Amino acid sequence: MTTPLPEGLGQRLLALAAAPQLLLCTDYDGTLAPLAPRPEQARLLPGASDLLYRLAALADTRVAIVSGRARDNLRSHSGFEDPVLLVGSHGAELPGQVLRSDGAAQLDAVAALLAPICAATPGAWLERKPLGLTVHVRQASAADGLRALNEVRRALLGHPALNVTEGKAVLELSLSRVNKADAVQRLREEQGNGTTVIYLGDDVTDETVFATLRDGDLGIKVGAGPTRAAHRVASEHDVLAVLRLLWQQRSGGGS
Ligand SMILES: [Mg+2]
Repeated sequence: MTTPLPEGLGQRLLALAAAPQLLLCTDYDGTLAPLAPRPEQARLLPGASDLLYRLAALADTRVAIVSGRARDNLRSHSGFEDPVLLVGSHGAELPGQVLRSDGAAQLDAVAALLAPICAATPGAWLERKPLGLTVHVRQASAADGLRALNEVRRALLGHPALNVTEGKAVLELSLSRVNKADAVQRLREEQGNGTTVIYLGDDVTDETVFATLRDGDLGIKVGAGPTRAAHRVASEHDVLAVLRLLWQQRSGGGS
C-alpha cells in the first residue's frame, strides 16, 4: 500500500531531479521486489520496470540495480537489461566485468563444510554464487536459524580469507572484499565524479552505501531498522512513488 512520501523526501527529490548528472542506484530484493520465502519466488513490483527504463532513457541519467544476487541470477530473475545496469554479489560483479574463478576450490571446500549444517537445519539452505556462498535461514525458525548461523561462523574460523557479511536472515560469504559502496563509487567515477547519487535499499549491506554518500546525494532506507540513510519510506510500494516523482520531474512531465 502506498502512503504519501514524507514532505522532506519529496522536496529533496524535486531538487535532485535537476542534477546535471544523476546516478540512480537501487537494491532489488526488499526494495523493488517484496521479500519472499525463497529468492526465486520474489516478484518485481508492477510498474517498477517501466519507470526504471524510462529514467535510464533520460539524458545524463544512469540507473543501476545493486543486488546481493549473483549477476546472472539477477538478470534472469528481474529481466532487466541495458541500459539498466546490473551489479551482482553485493558489488563484486560489475557490468562488463570478467570474473576470476581461482577461488572455486576454496568455495567448494567451504561449501562441503557448511552443507551438513544446513542439511541438519529445517528451512536452511546453501546457495553457491560465482564469488561466494550464501547461507539462507529465512524459512528456519528463529532459534534454528540462530543456531545454524553460529555453527557456520564456528566452521569458518579455519577460513579467515573469506569475507563474512550479515544480511536479513542470511550470511554472505565472499572471496571479494568489494562491497556495494565500492561498486556505487565505481559507477559514479565512470559517469563523472561530480555525479549526484540517489540510493534506495532495505538491507544491512546497503548501509555501506548510505554511510559513504556525499553532501548532495540522497539515501533512502526502505522499511524498518537502524540506518545511516537520511530518509526512509515504509515499504517497497513507496519506492514506486519515489521513482514516479523523480521521473515526472526529471523528464519535465510534470505531475
Ligand atoms: Mg534488499
